[in-house]
Amino acid sequence: MSFVIAAPETVSLPVVGTADRFPIHRVYCVGRNYAAHAVEMGHDPDREPPFFFQKNPDNLYAGSEFPYPPATSDVHHEVELLVALKDGGVDIPLDRALDCVFGYGVAFDMTRRDLQAKAKDMGRPWEVGKAFEHSAPSSPIVPATAIGHPARGAIWLDVNGARRQTGDLAQMIWKVPEMISYLSGLFTLRPGDVILSGTPSGVGAVKRGDRLNAHVDGVGDFEVTVA
Ligand code: MN
Repeated sequence: MSFVIAAPETVSLPVVGTADRFPIHRVYCVGRNYAAHAVEMGHDPDREPPFFFQKNPDNLYAGSEFPYPPATSDVHHEVELLVALKDGGVDIPLDRALDCVFGYGVAFDMTRRDLQAKAKDMGRPWEVGKAFEHSAPSSPIVPATAIGHPARGAIWLDVNGARRQTGDLAQMIWKVPEMISYLSGLFTLRPGDVILSGTPSGVGAVKRGDRLNAHVDGVGDFEVTVA
């Protein structure tokens, strides 16, 4: 096959333990999946269940630098467990959902909070706040064959050595199988889809030069510098 312009490259992430890479199809993100974060954003998690939005596949990258984006003066860190799917479908039952998972990573859902807040106020979509270039730096993916399916354990983020975000995977309102099953009722999930599973409380602004050290028990560590 030939194209009238150069075809876009396939976006991919490295995989721990192999030279082969994980190709990205779509990036789904869940909002307000930790109750304490929903509260800090001004919402009642008992009245408003989590929900999904998307980033662009090429917002995801394996990088040690996060370039401070344009058109904002309030970029927030959100540390999240990344779930990478090797299989998909529609209406996936809960008890088969984890069979779809290839592996896990530690990732950031970097957010232009000022632009997101304006979009919320005006009832507009969130893309300008969420789906910009380099908005989703990620660690290499660790196969589930090596670590299983982490359902509890610490998730935290240090900025310049000071603890900013802390939580436990067990605090997720929608667990990984529930996210996969629910999403598959809205979209056709495909191999290569990834899910950013929400952030614990403690989000805050970053500035150039900040060093972000993220950790998820059972998955690993990931460091990014704001450039
Ligand atoms: Mn998020």
